[in-house]
Order: sequence, then structure tokens, then C-alpha cells
Amino acid sequence: MSLAHPALDDPQTFLDLDDKWCAHNYSPLPVVAASAEGAWITDVAGKKYLDMLAGYSALNFGHRHPALIAATIEQLNTVTLTSRAFHHNQLGPFCEELAELTGTEMVLPMNSGAEAVESALKVARKWAYQVKGVPENQAQIITAGGNFHGRTISIVSFSDDPVATADYGPFTPGFVGVKYGDIEAFESAITPHTAAVLIEPIQGEAGVVVPPAGYMAAVRKLCTEHNVLMIADEIQSGLGRTGATLALDHEGVRADLYTLGKALGGGILPVSAVVGSRAVLGVLQPGTHGSTFGGNPLAAAVGRAVITLLKTGEMQERATRLGDVLLDKLSGLVGHGVAEVRGRGLWAGVELSPGGRSGKEVSKALAKRGILVKETQITTLRFAPPIVVTEAELTGAVDTLADILAE
Ligand SMILES: *Cc1c(COP(=O)(O)O)cnc(C)c1O
Repeated sequence: MSLAHPALDDPQTFLDLDDKWCAHNYSPLPVVAASAEGAWITDVAGKKYLDMLAGYSALNFGHRHPALIAATIEQLNTVTLTSRAFHHNQLGPFCEELAELTGTEMVLPMNSGAEAVESALKVARKWAYQVKGVPENQAQIITAGGNFHGRTISIVSFSDDPVATADYGPFTPGFVGVKYGDIEAFESAITPHTAAVLIEPIQGEAGVVVPPAGYMAAVRKLCTEHNVLMIADEIQSGLGRTGATLALDHEGVRADLYTLGKALGGGILPVSAVVGSRAVLGVLQPGTHGSTFGGNPLAAAVGRAVITLLKTGEMQERATRLGDVLLDKLSGLVGHGVAEVRGRGLWAGVELSPGGRSGKEVSKALAKRGILVKETQITTLRFAPPIVVTEAELTGAVDTLADILAE
């Protein structure tokens, strides 16, 4: 650290550096983390914050979970990167264990969430041409209104958020948008050229939007009837967040492909994957798709440690139990500055009452009181604490929110 920045315990020093040197593609809360453990972040001045966002669910098991850190250090001392030009002794075990955890047959390892989504879209198109028999360059993929699947050009091509799309055109063709939760709209969008539907079982960025009961099962049924692949984006909803390994498990529904990310990297490094059936992922042949870092030894070792944490079901049970506490307690605020509470497991969208303070204002007030959440949309707060949070920490956070809304 350079001596040009003497006030290293003053958050403002770092806010100024970020503002001057980092591209302004985010608008973060004025909190400067210096260290973190479990559900807690400590800032440069030593102030402690309860992390109720958990890196948008990348930190499902908390900051620096001891088992994940131990696996990381062990792997750092052996081999970290080979590229896929060579085999290594973490990849096969990682893919086997992830397939077993998710009840699938094959794994395509990638890095970021967006990359997993892009990969799933490519696989679906290839499957449409090679297996379904869609004429060349005619494949269509159905997506849902309010979706969030990442930030690449192709992915923002089917976003309906003007902030995400403005001045990024021209966009990738081949996508058809339908209203989320509306099964008739979905059915009428299907054509003989439909390769797949890409859908979030619960829409996180849209504000933890839970679709109507039976919707996912109805989507599955239509996909089967019309030979259309169901791709579930579980990058945010998956790996324990909703109280199940996969959010679709609650619906008794199996997708053909799942995209996983965020928590798969244990809050340590980016690890993503597409998992699914051999009949679909089997369309990939050597050279047709790839990634230098995808499935690297360090990522695979961390991913395996994450899978070990999820295999016992304890994390999922804890998310269910604490999620009931969180949703119950938040629901008590309806009519007191809160219009609606949605959610499943340890994941809640709190819709603030119209005419009151914005999500951003309430997030700032919470941060001042040592609770970190972030608005999503203008009037929604998202609560997605690490699953290792305690019941007392959760109820304390909701009490603080109640205080702020009563001011
Ligand atoms: C975060 C997210 C992504 C994108 O993941 P990145 O790692 O940020 O690229 C995709 N889909 C969903 C549902 C997400 O929540």
C-alpha cells in the first residue's frame, strides 16, 4: 500500500480511490470491508456489519467458511491451473460429485454465471440443430420478462431492463420474451423452431419474485410435449438458498439443464457450471466450446468442498428453518412501511410501501446501523443472509429495519 494514502482506517480514502480509478459501473453503499468472517464484515475503521446480502448468494456458507478455506489452501499447495490441455486430479471428482448432488449426468465447468448461461444457450442451440432438427440458424430460445441472467451482449439481448441494455446494441437475435408466470403466454410462444426456455425458478434480481404455484411444473410439461429444453438458471436460487439444493426441487420439477454459479465458488473464487443430461450436454465435441480457467484445479477443489457442505442436507435444513423465522418476522412489517414480503427459504424480497423511502435510502439507513442489504429494483430490499447466520442476528436485523421504517 502506497504512503500517498495515509488515512487507511478512514473509509473515505477508499471511496475516493474507487471513485477516481474504478469504472463507475456500480453504485455501492459507502461501506469499505477490510475483513470478514461468517455473517460479519468489519470495515477499515473497525466497525462491524451483519452481512444480509451474502454477495448476492455467492456467500451462502458465510465469509471464509473454515472447511472451504482449508480446501483452498490445500489445493494452493499442490496445483492451481493446468488449462484443459491436460487432465488433473480434481476435475473428474468435481464433475462426478456435482452431478450426484444435482441428480444429473454431466457437468460443463465454467467460471462466471454469465459464462454458464452463455454456455447453456450454445448447448441448447447445438442440440436444436443436431438432435431436434431445427433448420440452420433458426433456433429460438424463450426467456421471461424481468429476467436477470448476466451481463454479456447475448444475455442483455433478452433483458427488458432499459438500464442494462441502453447503448449496447445491436443485440443477438433468436430470443423471444414472454411474461414470467403466465403459462398461456409461454405456450403460445412455442414454435417448431423453439430450442429451449431459459428461466429462473425464482427471480432474484427482479426482487425475489416467486411464480404462481404450478407454473414451473406446467412449463416442464409443455417442454416435454414440444421437445423443448428446460434450462433452469439456479445461479442465485440454487445450492441451499431456498432450503433445497435446487429451487426447482420444491416444485418436483427436473430441468434438462441447470446453470449454477455464485455459491459454487464458496465465496472464494468464481466457479460456475452447466449440469444436465448426457443426451443434451453430450452434443459438445472437442474444440467446439471451452474456457481457459473453466474447471481449473483450484476451482474444482473449492467446488468439491462446497458440495461436501451441501451433501449432508444440513445447510438446506438450516436455510429452511431460519427462512421461516425471517419470512415470518418480515411479514409482521406489512402495513408498517412494507407493502409485501415474498420469498422462499432464507431469501426474501421486501416491497416497501409506495410513497415512502426508496430501497436505496433504507439500505443506507440500515448500513449506518450495521446491517448490510442492498435494494434491487427501486422499492425492493433483498434479504439473502449467509446460511450460517444465527436466529438472533436475523431477528435483530428485522427489528432494526422496523425501527427505521417507523422513524
Ligand atoms: C448473478 C446471476 C447471473 C450472472 O452471474 P455472474 O457471475 O455475475 O456472471 C446469472 N443468473 C442469475 C440468476 C444470477 O443471479
